[in-house]
Amino acid sequence: MRLVLPDAVVHVVAEGEKREGEAEGGLHGAALRGVRDDVKVNLLDLDQTGFPNLALMRLSTWLKSHGHDVILNGAGKVDQVYASAVFSWNRASAEFVEARGGQIGGTGVSLQRKLPAEVESCNPDYSLYGIDYGLGFLQRGCIRRCEFCVVPEKEGNAYEASSITGLMNRESDRDPPFIVLLDNEFFWKVKWALSKLEEFIKRGIDFCPSQGLDIRCVTPALAETLAASPYWNVHHTSRQITFAFDDSSIEKRYRKGVEELLRAGIPPRHLQSFVLVGFNSTIEQDLKRIEIIREYGIDPFVMVYRDWRTGQPVRGQQHRNLARWVNRRLYKVCAFEDYWPEQRRGLQGVMDLATNTPPTPAS
Ligand code: SF4
Repeated sequence: MRLVLPDAVVHVVAEGEKREGEAEGGLHGAALRGVRDDVKVNLLDLDQTGFPNLALMRLSTWLKSHGHDVILNGAGKVDQVYASAVFSWNRASAEFVEARGGQIGGTGVSLQRKLPAEVESCNPDYSLYGIDYGLGFLQRGCIRRCEFCVVPEKEGNAYEASSITGLMNRESDRDPPFIVLLDNEFFWKVKWALSKLEEFIKRGIDFCPSQGLDIRCVTPALAETLAASPYWNVHHTSRQITFAFDDSSIEKRYRKGVEELLRAGIPPRHLQSFVLVGFNSTIEQDLKRIEIIREYGIDPFVMVYRDWRTGQPVRGQQHRNLARWVNRRLYKVCAFEDYWPEQRRGLQGVMDLATNTPPTPAS
């Protein structure tokens, strides 16, 4: 997110001691010493997923530490609006905000707009969302270059981003503490991942690798340590760990990794697998992956591909039906060939469905 100072702030800086390099309104601490403290800022989380936006939380800390009044998703008159969209399908909303004078950023808007280092280094303001767990990245970037994924382009090669202590929510007295990890490739280095898992175990800190783990990296040692570690789902309501099965080409490695996890004692009911659909696979290949996952007694979860470059969603009814059929566990009730939600709604005959055969008219 490129941060530009609100007009009121810029005026104060201009009247004060102007330093080289500060004319563009960059957030340099020294330049901000004279800023007045009555600027009211509205932070807009355009995704509204219920999942906290880390960038807005850091920005909130920075703004509050400089005396500003911050509200989240507020209405009414404010001096400045900063909006963030992680998902590209919210880009239009972000542009709407920008056209009205707000500052916008986030992966869904642009990979070039980043938080200034001074803001990026702030601890998150957990009170912004009222959460009692820690949130953030132990590592960023990735060791792989999956074509459908924004991470390599956005963050580059894998690197360590923080310590476990650095991700603790210090305002929370939750016992045991809980940390939601945003890491995209937690297994980027086996030794490093082992040391982090051992630290979670030793310190009694519950954690959730919310973005899923890489099944291709699972070794016997990782599987055993993971089995002994306090992993949870993102809501901390059930023991769950997720591995991606995004591509049929990794079937052998998926099977090997899963079998290693089961051998280490992780029950299948603790496991979930993401299934990417709508990128370069056919529905038949998608169904085959779902079948393999279910063969192990694991829960599949379908993610429908959206192009992060253009912000264009996949509009295929077939994929949306597949996502609904899997994610609502309707596979327990009927086969996908028999799942015709359009028929129920009287919209039959217009969709390109799995068999390419138009459904029969609704009775
Ligand atoms: S392994 Fe995961 S994070 Fe890395 S490039 Fe592939 S999809 Fe993205």
